Amino acid sequence: MNSAPQMKPWIDAIHAYVPGKAKLDARPVVAKLSSNENPFGPSPHAVAAMTAVLGASHLYPDPASTALREALAALHGIEAGRIICGTGSDELIHLVAGAFAGPGDEIVYVRHGFAVYDIAARRVGATPVVADDVDYTCDVDAVLAAVTDRTRVVFLANPNNPTGTIISAAEVRRLHAGLRPDIVFALDAAYAEFAEGEYEDGIALARAHANVVALRTFSKIYGLAAQRIGWAYAQESLVGAMHRIRAPFNVPATGQAGAIAALADTDWVEKTRAHTLQWRNWLAGEITALGNAGLRAIPSAANFVLVEFPEDGPVNAAAANAALLEDGIIARYLAVQAMPRCIRISIGTEAETRAAAASLRAFVAGATG
Ligand SMILES: *Cc1c(COP(=O)(O)O)cnc(C)c1O
Repeated sequence: MNSAPQMKPWIDAIHAYVPGKAKLDARPVVAKLSSNENPFGPSPHAVAAMTAVLGASHLYPDPASTALREALAALHGIEAGRIICGTGSDELIHLVAGAFAGPGDEIVYVRHGFAVYDIAARRVGATPVVADDVDYTCDVDAVLAAVTDRTRVVFLANPNNPTGTIISAAEVRRLHAGLRPDIVFALDAAYAEFAEGEYEDGIALARAHANVVALRTFSKIYGLAAQRIGWAYAQESLVGAMHRIRAPFNVPATGQAGAIAALADTDWVEKTRAHTLQWRNWLAGEITALGNAGLRAIPSAANFVLVEFPEDGPVNAAAANAALLEDGIIARYLAVQAMPRCIRISIGTEAETRAAAASLRAFVAGATG
């Protein structure tokens, strides 16, 4: 007999998610660029809508997020009955894993994929299977080669976090076409609004196929990360399975109201998008200018830039991260995700983004003497 409760072995195997830092011990924060948040905050209309419902906080929220689903359905031209809202898209990722996989099953995702997929797979006792990337980018052939008879779910973030890389609509469709119809293809489009050109956000695929779940969030371009609102679109059979295991009141009333107002404020979304693309390209250019020191900006389709540093020598990622922190700039050093050469920098306001670039420039100048 054990002398204490025993964690299930698959839970014991989870490396807990390490969130981006929000505070510094000894100095004021100049720029928090660690979690890909909207640097302008939520739309003022969303703030007003959330404030207006605070007085009714003694009442449970609408368990079905009905008005929000209807607003999403109208915006995207899809069926409200096939939308499920979640406590962030994080919850929806867990619902996909929980509804479709368990012990003995496999869940596939890419090497430098979103950290929550690993936790979601292990949490339900499924076996995580990692497909190798090519230069931080999803390799569709490697994903398809990782599929076995036991595969139940494939997760893909496109654009991907933490790399910012994207695969084309044709590649997304080729990946889907190569999966058996009993495998759930969960396409996580948390950064869809930042993608340019021809792009498959999963909605058209999910309408046409019974094994596709398109995942979205209000945490990134909509600036509502604190409210924890995500949504998924899929055919009824998939959505129904996810509903069975979700928390009954999983989206707060403030989040539902704020999200509806945020959807309507298209100017705010467009302003964020234009700013992000402009300053993302600027930051990538600044990093490319430090190429002699071995820095490389991985081409990004999202609201952040992944910076790769030389493996050793004075200009390395750990030292650069320390220098950024010294200057009050919190980026995401990815040693926690087995990427010790990489730092992810979210696009902030102009001043914040310039401060991050200046700090990196000064670090490189100091380290190369
Ligand atoms: C941020 C992010 C999410 C989750 O966001 P929520 O805040 O839980 O909605 C999901 N997938 C990816 C790839 C992300 O980067």
